[in-house]
Amino acid sequence: MTTVAQRLNQVKATLPATGVQLIAVSKFHPAETIREAYDAGHRCFGESRVQELQQKYDQLPHDIEWHFIGHLQTNKVKYIIPYVSMIHSVDSPRILDEIERQAARVNRVVDCLLEVHVAQEDTKFGFTPQECVAFLESAVAQSYPHVRFRGIMGMASNTDNQEQVRAEFAQLKQLFDDVRGGVMQGQAHFDTLSMGMSLDYLLAIEQGSTMVRIGTTIFGEREY
Ligand SMILES: *Cc1c(COP(=O)(O)O)cnc(C)c1O
Repeated sequence: MTTVAQRLNQVKATLPATGVQLIAVSKFHPAETIREAYDAGHRCFGESRVQELQQKYDQLPHDIEWHFIGHLQTNKVKYIIPYVSMIHSVDSPRILDEIERQAARVNRVVDCLLEVHVAQEDTKFGFTPQECVAFLESAVAQSYPHVRFRGIMGMASNTDNQEQVRAEFAQLKQLFDDVRGGVMQGQAHFDTLSMGMSLDYLLAIEQGSTMVRIGTTIFGEREY
């Protein structure tokens, strides 16, 4: 049996020395388990459900950076805006409008990633690459003073086909570079490409990921 701290360190040992940030995805695991990673020095955690995040926020130290990675419902945005560190899953103009509105109310600027859909699976969520570019163009024109666009988040297909996974990550990286050189040119804070999970993060890093979201490898299987 290995401990959370040991598995965390094993994962860290596989990451490049600089340039890739590790988000430990703690969804479905209790606060005590997160505490083990916290005590081992880790501070960045990812959650996918609002109510669960709220409970953990209350139970755990407030120097944790909470990353929201799941689909967000408009009516729940207000609960996490006061403390969330980054929202990875901005998947519609409507949700961004609500993030802006709620962040303005508490006088915060919230870091956001646009979720882009490239996998073969027909998930309901995320922009296509074309929609992402078009949306950023209109968003920049409209200006969201309480949102800071930090980059893009995406997932590859859940398949054993490594070439397909690699191609999907390459597509996300291409989009990221196009946007950085295009609509976001000169915006130094647009610097984050969040891609890679337990089974595919090494491929994601090979393709240029700057942030990986790893759950199972650190915390074990989730019990839903
Ligand atoms: C659950 C989840 C992860 C972590 O997945 P693992 O396979 O457990 O590493 C990463 N990203 C998102 C968006 C998730 O929902």
